[in-house]
Amino acid sequence: MAADFVEGWLLGQTLGEGAFGEVKLVINNATGEAVAMKMIDLRKYTDAALSVKKETAIQRSLRHPNVLQYYGKRSHANFEYIFLEYCSGGELFDRIEPDLGMAVKDARRYFRQLLSGVEYLHSRGVAHRDIKPENLLLDQYDNIKISDFGMATMFRFKGVERLLDRRCGTLPYVAPEVLKEPYRASPADLWSCGIVLVTMLSGVLPWDQPSSKCKNYEDWCIGGVLGSNGPWKTMTAGVLGLLTGILADDPQNRSALERVQSHPWMSTQSSDDIDYGSNLEEFSISLSQPLPSGDHTASLIAHETDDREMTCFSQPIACDDLLLASQMNLTQSASQGVFQKLVKRMTRFFVGCEYAQATERLTAVLRSMIQCQWKISQTRGITVTTTDNRKMQLIYKVNFIDMDGKLLVDFRLSKGCGLEFKRRFVQIKKSLADVIIQGSCN
Ligand code: AMP
Repeated sequence: MAADFVEGWLLGQTLGEGAFGEVKLVINNATGEAVAMKMIDLRKYTDAALSVKKETAIQRSLRHPNVLQYYGKRSHANFEYIFLEYCSGGELFDRIEPDLGMAVKDARRYFRQLLSGVEYLHSRGVAHRDIKPENLLLDQYDNIKISDFGMATMFRFKGVERLLDRRCGTLPYVAPEVLKEPYRASPADLWSCGIVLVTMLSGVLPWDQPSSKCKNYEDWCIGGVLGSNGPWKTMTAGVLGLLTGILADDPQNRSALERVQSHPWMSTQSSDDIDYGSNLEEFSISLSQPLPSGDHTASLIAHETDDREMTCFSQPIACDDLLLASQMNLTQSASQGVFQKLVKRMTRFFVGCEYAQATERLTAVLRSMIQCQWKISQTRGITVTTTDNRKMQLIYKVNFIDMDGKLLVDFRLSKGCGLEFKRRFVQIKKSLADVIIQGSCN
């Protein structure tokens, strides 16, 4: 059984890794409610405390079907724990096939939801500043949830907008003005949404960065995309028109978000182009997973002593008696596997061989890949560290899990570009085709 984390709550599997540590699944053993918990070790990440405070202060005021719901946080023994809506559908990049993308109807649906979330953020004066497929989670109904507010900031307060000047984000996704000068928040976020759409439709990033240092970007600026070999080659005139408006170099010439939403391509509808939750008026019923009932989740969340006066409106006041430090029990190891089936991920397969042979085969493939280093852990895992085509660090973990008498090989991105990670996964999967049990993935 998994460890009893706080009375009545079990600590489940690791969902992922962020800049400041792991994200774990926590499950209520009576009701089955699932919550994601970010664990931040303040001794290890000495600069994390301020970031966490800022991030949670922004996130706690947000409530929208396409924005990851924040439940609260607690502190205990040098750790900060942030409780968030659990997304069992994984990350958006996982749905993007390298060099292919995804079905247009799916891309359109995700894009609509992304814009809806971003429109809401901007209406609340919040700029996200790091929109990319790795930060777009999917819930059990495949709805987009904008996550990771680590770089978010307020750009409008009491109706007064301020320009931003911090150069932040992820190079292939940032708007050109972010690299140059003080910039307006909304057009910059919208630009990143446009790049997300390009990746969804083509499976590639259009350029490494939007500057004169990059030929692909220069080509785009002079309008040399039509008929070229880039990501544009399979796109229709309709969506190219839409993208031309979003990816305008000069933010003054960029389409406004409302204009993008009313573009004809956005409303093209095919019979199976169903937008889950789009006609739901109340946030409470459009949530893909119910807000955990107050009585239960309250037990997880500590007093937010540093900013207690702010109300976390999705949660009732936390119960004192369940918030005592002594009730936290993180030393027991949680069992792997108990909740393994809850997370949807494309980057995995079953193999028809034993663990020893599987690792031998995998490491042989890794040996053939350039600039690739790996470390085998004692808990049946391999951490692979490499660099991608943009010379950016790429770290992913491979876990071997016994499941129903078969061996599941599960790949998870730890750091770096999701698309590049998927490219490596596809390469490895091809090389191991003879031991993979066909049709067994996911
Ligand atoms: P972050 O620290 O927000 O960058 O999260 C790191 C990784 O943990 C993400 O890329 C996801 O794979 C996973 N993760 C984060 N939050 C959640 C959540 N609410 N539900 C499920 N998985 C999550």
